[in-house]
Amino acid sequence: MQQASIRTYRQKPMATEIKEKVDRSGAEILNLTERELRCPYCGHFIMTLYSDVSGHLSAKCGHCKQITTYNLGYFRRARRPRHHRLDPA
Ligand SMILES: [Zn+2]
Repeated sequence: MQQASIRTYRQKPMATEIKEKVDRSGAEILNLTERELRCPYCGHFIMTLYSDVSGHLSAKCGHCKQITTYNLGYFRRARRPRHHRLDPA
């Protein structure tokens, strides 16, 4: 997973209920599979998606600056090697 360097001097104190949500979110993903959302124009990594994600989102590519709208239902397949393909023949 790629991550930009964290600029702590730009951060501000986090409200307790927000911190709770952040911590809970981090714990919940342990049972989910993850995949990468990549820019369709240049292939740059956009963000990590988890297996329960759905719906639409717009994201700006950090590399080519293109803003793309994604229907996550159309970007479901991980681009990692798959050892077991269960497609009917
Ligand atoms: Zn791009």
